[in-house]
Amino acid sequence: MIAPGVKPLRLLVVEDDPNLNNQLVEALKDAGYAVDSARDGEEGHFLGDTEPYDAVVLDIGLPKMDGLSVLEQWRKDGRKMPVLLLTARDRWSDKVAGIDAGADDYVAKPFHMEEVLARLRALVRRSAGHASNEIECGPVRLDTKAGRVTVHGTLVKLTSHELRLISYLMHHIGRVVSRTELVEHLYDQDFDRDSNTIEVFVGRVRRKLGVDIIQTIRGLGYTVGMTSDAG
Ligand code: CA
Repeated sequence: MIAPGVKPLRLLVVEDDPNLNNQLVEALKDAGYAVDSARDGEEGHFLGDTEPYDAVVLDIGLPKMDGLSVLEQWRKDGRKMPVLLLTARDRWSDKVAGIDAGADDYVAKPFHMEEVLARLRALVRRSAGHASNEIECGPVRLDTKAGRVTVHGTLVKLTSHELRLISYLMHHIGRVVSRTELVEHLYDQDFDRDSNTIEVFVGRVRRKLGVDIIQTIRGLGYTVGMTSDAG
């Protein structure tokens, strides 16, 4: 069952306030994302450095290592995932420092969850090179805002994992995506990952879509939107 407004990909939340952290994680999970979370800068930095996230929500004021240092270190190390900073209200200096440190956007506290969700959707879309809410590949259309997939205009019912799969491939149209990369982006840390299950998911998504837009590139992975005779 998928809630409306699904944005299926993998995110990291770094926020030390336990309530706010929980609220963010729950809201993002409800919205269909796979979510990991950290409560201090060191743990957040480590996760962002070692796991592939599609976007990060990063608080500035954090214990052990502040958010700006975390961000600067990631950028120095070549980590390019979009980062949405959480700043204190009216601290314009934080916002300037944040942008300088490599943030892609910010939201001032206190914020409405809907604004965080909307900004994250836009960041993920832009980082994948898509300016609008909708991504098309042949007869298949992905509405990233509503989290819906249609084929020839007809809605296709997908589970959240299936939706993440097709969404990840469509966000990276024309590129070959390996099974390992898919596993890393479809599941959160706690999930028992097995790259063999990807094949099962791909098979299911193909059947549900009823059109052959996912190509298997033998030995490499999967792609959509590329003409290929690799089958
Ligand atoms: Ca804080």
